[in-house]
Amino acid sequence: MSKALALLWACLWTSVAWADVPVVASIKPLHALAAAVMEGAGSPEVLVKGAGSAHIHSLKPSDAKLLSEAAVVFWIGPTFETFLVRPFGALGGKARIVALGDAPGTKRIGTDGHVWLDPANAKVIAAAMAETLAGADPANAARYRTNARELAAKIDMLDVEVIAKLASIKDKPFFVFHDAYQYFGEHYGLDVRGHVTANPERPAGARHLQHLKAEIAALPSTCVFAEPQFEPKLIAALTVGTRARSGVLDPEGSGLAPGPELYFNLMRELAGNIVRCLTAP
Ligand SMILES: [Zn+2]
Repeated sequence: MSKALALLWACLWTSVAWADVPVVASIKPLHALAAAVMEGAGSPEVLVKGAGSAHIHSLKPSDAKLLSEAAVVFWIGPTFETFLVRPFGALGGKARIVALGDAPGTKRIGTDGHVWLDPANAKVIAAAMAETLAGADPANAARYRTNARELAAKIDMLDVEVIAKLASIKDKPFFVFHDAYQYFGEHYGLDVRGHVTANPERPAGARHLQHLKAEIAALPSTCVFAEPQFEPKLIAALTVGTRARSGVLDPEGSGLAPGPELYFNLMRELAGNIVRCLTAP
């Protein structure tokens, strides 16, 4: 192998495996939908990786590098990934920045930004991603649109599965760590009775916690769910001396492997963990 060829190989192996258009998603659920829409055309990158959460993420040098190289960036919007507001101001209009929480047809509930937990929203987001990518990469336009249609059909099947899974706990109240489950709760008709904090970026007030504890203690059976990143001690304090059980919910899929299947695993895991806690003997 010539020296030049060896160098080329080294470059290929060390660079990011960008698609024809470099695409970055803010969080794993959006990355999963983008990965499914882009299948066969390339792979997107993700900023909030591993056990991270958009609520506590701060921009790393590697994130800044990805953003500076991106042609398309998908995020929920400025009230959700607050860590991206400033860096986007510095991007200088190079990338197409698409706030999917504001995509036409995306259902919004209050200030809850976790729009992907309604499967109808996930389909709207996938279609919006396909249109953005078709514009940025016309050579693959048909592939993006076909992939989005196939993804929507898969999400419909997932929805049927999750509806069946949740049927037994529809009338059972439960409590969650932060205000992340309005979409999941409303779509599946669940009784999400309260949350510890509206936003993990702001701690819960003492009076709110006192009120919550009284509400939990008054119920013959319920569950209080922590999240992998947040406050297991607080959840323990709320359930101690009551009949409530505790569990864990992971609305960003922080414990799941990234990729096109993450969205499906995330929705199944949420449903499974809610049912397991609420039906435990
Ligand atoms: Zn959240």
